[in-house]
Amino acid sequence: MARYTGPVCRQCRREGEKLFLKGERCYSGKCAVGRRAYPPGQHGQGRKKASEYGLQLRAKQRARRYYGMSESQFHRYFEIAERKQGVTGENLLRLLESRLDNIVYRLGWASSRPEARQLVVHGHFMVGGRRVNVPSFLTRPGDVVTVGSKSRDKQRIKDIIEANSAHPVPKWLDLNAETLEAKVLNLPEREEIEAPVEEQLIVEFYSK
Ligand code: SF4
Repeated sequence: MARYTGPVCRQCRREGEKLFLKGERCYSGKCAVGRRAYPPGQHGQGRKKASEYGLQLRAKQRARRYYGMSESQFHRYFEIAERKQGVTGENLLRLLESRLDNIVYRLGWASSRPEARQLVVHGHFMVGGRRVNVPSFLTRPGDVVTVGSKSRDKQRIKDIIEANSAHPVPKWLDLNAETLEAKVLNLPEREEIEAPVEEQLIVEFYSK
């Protein structure tokens, strides 16, 4: 499936939850979830209670949209998570969290995941001293992520980092805000991941 290119806020309204896809606007009174708290479309206000399958589908769609992934890519992550040892749902979440675009967002070097994705594609970040422009790059414990030496002098990058400096950085990432370097200490435990993801429902969805 191709990447979604329609109205961004429509995705949050569909999931009935803020997915924080637009940076600053998500924290303002302009957020569409606050203003129109019902699903989009002609029948949005008349929908009935969801079935069990409907709940599982929505859980999967919400997580997929939150992390900005296509259906095929998300399913592939699930298959990888299933093959790993441990709890499949938690493995899936850890994989999603270890993506480079997510790390950049979690570090406050972008105001949203879509922006993080774009900045990664434009080659503004390094992992272990090498430029990486692949948003789905999976970081590992011990990896050091930095803002590229040329990029850190760019006004746009400076403005974005300054605007997001209050962004809470999770404990599993060690950020040095002065040198713009961050180390992945470990992959997070479930309780360390703040995300509107009901991983058990996703596992049930794919297990049918
Ligand atoms: Fe739009 Fe952000 Fe609100 Fe979602 S959270 S509806 S992306 S403004």
